[in-house]
Amino acid sequence: MKTTTTSFSNPDCLIIGAGIFGLWAARHAIKRGESVQVVEKAHVGNGASGGFLGSLMPHEPVRWNEKKQMQFEALDCLSNCIAKLEEDTGFDCGYRRCGRIMPLRHEKMDFHVKERLEGMKTLWQGRYSLAKYNQIGEDIIHDGKLVGLPKGWVNTEIAAYGVTYDNFSARVNPRSYLEALAAYVRAHAEINEGVEVSAIDAKNCKANLADGTSISAGRIIVANGYQAYDLLSQIDARYKTQTILGQGVKGQAVLVEYNHNDTLPIVYDDGVYIVPHAGNRVAIGSTSNKIWSGEKEFDENDMSFYQRGITAVPALKDAPIIEKWAGVRPRNVIPEPLTGKVLSASISGRLDDYETIYAAIGGFKIGMGIAHMDNLQP
Ligand SMILES: Cc1cc2nc3c(=O)[nH]c(=O)nc-3n(C[C@H](O)[C@H](O)[C@H](O)COP(=O)(O)OP(=O)(O)OC[C@H]3O[C@@H](n4cnc5c(N)ncnc54)[C@H](O)[C@@H]3O)c2cc1C
Repeated sequence: MKTTTTSFSNPDCLIIGAGIFGLWAARHAIKRGESVQVVEKAHVGNGASGGFLGSLMPHEPVRWNEKKQMQFEALDCLSNCIAKLEEDTGFDCGYRRCGRIMPLRHEKMDFHVKERLEGMKTLWQGRYSLAKYNQIGEDIIHDGKLVGLPKGWVNTEIAAYGVTYDNFSARVNPRSYLEALAAYVRAHAEINEGVEVSAIDAKNCKANLADGTSISAGRIIVANGYQAYDLLSQIDARYKTQTILGQGVKGQAVLVEYNHNDTLPIVYDDGVYIVPHAGNRVAIGSTSNKIWSGEKEFDENDMSFYQRGITAVPALKDAPIIEKWAGVRPRNVIPEPLTGKVLSASISGRLDDYETIYAAIGGFKIGMGIAHMDNLQP
């Protein structure tokens, strides 16, 4: 087998995949002083990270567990991590702690809201707030400022029992965020696009490439999204049936043009996220399909999420759709020890039994808000 000739022919750290997890892994490794090479089969943002929804929503502060605590810590430090990245690169990632409104459609929500209001006091450590408003017309306060809602930003009919508002939820522009990370990595290391890894030789810490060449490295971080399951199960058949197992779940979203002054909160209703972005853009999404074909093909027959979106936010009814996007996100299958319920947490760390092979695989619908956590120290 030939050996590939890139400027780092034997990097300390080889990263497979230039999505949000791979690029954060690269930034951390660079900062630790490792020589880094990222190989990406297509281009930066080719996978699930390259969309436009970018909602960063905390788990509800009830039935707390390790995963929720980890996400709390991640979202809590994200604004600082992004500010540092922006300072390093001069890029704007489109981050804003915009808050979130959830309409209360049913009377029975009252019990859950009380639980959340109670849980928030301790679990959010007094750093963020969640409040219930009986009517949309009431003044919603975010960090001491009044949140001005244009007519139709929340459908009063579906908010029959009021709304909750939290000031913890945020949004980021996924593409700008990736661009900033890629700029940082390119300035200090190498991203090789159009380079596909076909197999990992774990014993020799080597990535075999689709073109027949290979790259040896001090360690390898597998961060190629849902396709990591295949790559890892080739290393060790146990991963097919034990701890590392997952599935690609396809999702879609649309981006609309709507004039706003970028002070609006996210609306979350009926499983749909309505996320305001800078530049008069609002993203609406997303779906979750376990059975799918065509990784990036947008299915026009699967638009009910959009209808639900404009029902929740009627102001968007006539907003022109300017982009439709589909992607496949990794959903790791990690059964909760007590209940057996599947958790969609991220997988991040060194593989048991393999000294030099690490995995960093996204956390289903919350990947954008946790990818910056550094769990991959050599
Ligand atoms: C429609 C949709 C909406 C979403 N909305 C949100 C949201 O609002 N908030 C949120 O937090 N999360 C959201 N997510 C989830 C989030 O996007 C993912 O959790 C995250 O992007 C996963 O990142 P990743 O780096 O693990 O994978 P990816 O972004 O998929 O990156 C993997 C990369 O590896 C490359 N690759 C694959 N195989 C190989 C190989 N063999 N060799 C080299 N390179 C390879 C791919 O081309 C790709 O670029 C959404 C996902 C979808 C699909």
